[in-house]
Amino acid sequence: MNAEDVILEVSHLEKSFGSHDVLRDISFQVAKGDVVSVIGASGSGKSTMLRCVNLLETPTGGSILYHGEDITDPKINVPAYRSKVGMVFQSFNLFNNMTVLENCMVGQIKVAGRKKEEAEEKAMAYLKKVGMDAYINAKPRQLSGGQKQRVAIARALAMEPEILLFDEPTSALDPQMVGEVLNIMRQLAQEGLTMIVVTHEMAFARDISSHVIFMSDGVIEEEGTAKEVFLEPKSEKTKEFLSRFR
Ligand code: ADP
Ligand code: MG
Repeated sequence: MNAEDVILEVSHLEKSFGSHDVLRDISFQVAKGDVVSVIGASGSGKSTMLRCVNLLETPTGGSILYHGEDITDPKINVPAYRSKVGMVFQSFNLFNNMTVLENCMVGQIKVAGRKKEEAEEKAMAYLKKVGMDAYINAKPRQLSGGQKQRVAIARALAMEPEILLFDEPTSALDPQMVGEVLNIMRQLAQEGLTMIVVTHEMAFARDISSHVIFMSDGVIEEEGTAKEVFLEPKSEKTKEFLSRFR
């Protein structure tokens, strides 16, 4: 990893809710082009970690540097930061009162300050990329789960983020729709998009990841290349977790 290519540097991150220490001493870096998968049991803190990185939660300790700048500084422009470090949620979070096209334009206009024509052009290009350009006038309720998630991905891509965070993007989908979303994510990874992906799709994580983080009870229990973590896990906890998927 090239030091000047480091985009995000998470150091000794902590998050507590009251007396409940949900994250403890989480440290990792993300460089340009990295595909980092985060795996671990439900309740291990994966979402809280991603939400801290996206500033949906305020860390209670440690630091998160984005190009060397601490994002927890109150002076940070949060919407501008989120346009660079985008997020795709398990539950899509589309605006239900807007069409597919409007969903993909609103952030570009309001946050990125783009003109309507440019926003529409980019929205169309990214909707095409995810195979949803035929649905621009549809409302989210008219779409399947897989289609909604593809629109959510197009909406995030239209901001042209530096990193995209995915929090279990296929967990709310019917099994037959998982593949269409994973295929798009696989393509994005191959094209060099920098991503952090929380997932229970182990085969997918093994195939696309440059780096894998296994979280257990709020700490990074083990991390390494996909080969190291999936094929040669060192920790008993990692081995036990992975054995559930065999
Ligand atoms: P995961 O995504 O790995 O399933 P989460 O990050 O969602 O784990 O949750 C980790 C722990 O933090 C859980 O025990 C959860 O109950 C707790 N937690 C998450 N969000 C909150 C919150 N807003 N208030 C209190 N506890 C929370
Ligand atoms: Mg979660």
